[in-house]
Amino acid sequence: MNLQLPLDAAPLFPDLPSRGGVYVWVTWAASYLAGDTSRDWSLWVRAHYQGWKSVDDAEGSQLALWHVDHTALLRQLVAAARARGERVWVESQNAFRLVVRPHVTLAGKPDLVTLAPDGTIMVTDAKSGQRKPAHILQVMLYQWALRRADHRFSDCQIGGRVVYADGDPPVVIQPSAINTAFERRVLECLEQLAVPVPPFRMPSRQECRFCPVSRKACPERVEWDVEEESGPPC
Ligand code: SF4
Repeated sequence: MNLQLPLDAAPLFPDLPSRGGVYVWVTWAASYLAGDTSRDWSLWVRAHYQGWKSVDDAEGSQLALWHVDHTALLRQLVAAARARGERVWVESQNAFRLVVRPHVTLAGKPDLVTLAPDGTIMVTDAKSGQRKPAHILQVMLYQWALRRADHRFSDCQIGGRVVYADGDPPVVIQPSAINTAFERRVLECLEQLAVPVPPFRMPSRQECRFCPVSRKACPERVEWDVEEESGPPC
């Protein structure tokens, strides 16, 4: 059964500006690949529309703290790489937009890319929070995309690293992990996020609580009720 919408179908969300194509940030693709299916709808709407974000005052201060911790860790990594005599490219210097097929773009901004004197190229992401499988997939996506999107690294072997602020050993990803099976999964993921028909929503207080999509973009959003969560008064 073909579920494609006719091309002249009315937009699903007339109040949200359409992207006019499909635009997927690497972090969204990593979340999709990590298999958190309850987030599929949230990722789909972000890829197709702008203006989906909910405004949360508390989130602003949390984000500022995250930036402070992340920047401190990244500065340490940059200083260590320079001390080893490596060439260093940081954040915006690494930004890419890879047109995977017409109207489908994968975008990202790796924290750090280094070139060692022996020719080893490494993409590193700094994480200040808890360890998650999606972090590893994020770096694997950078490894896959950089050699296609950035002429400096065309067809180069690129290693990967996720470094955490907890001080435990980093997760290291060999270039050989970016194989044809991984590439097939990436392309499938982008195809699934690009379909014109959104996936099913699975609203729940637990999921919606951590979902950044506003009620305007997701009318089924369940708001988190702190009083209800703490139980009835005895
Ligand atoms: S708000 Fe809830 S139902 Fe809506 S996309 Fe996010 S997690 Fe899914």
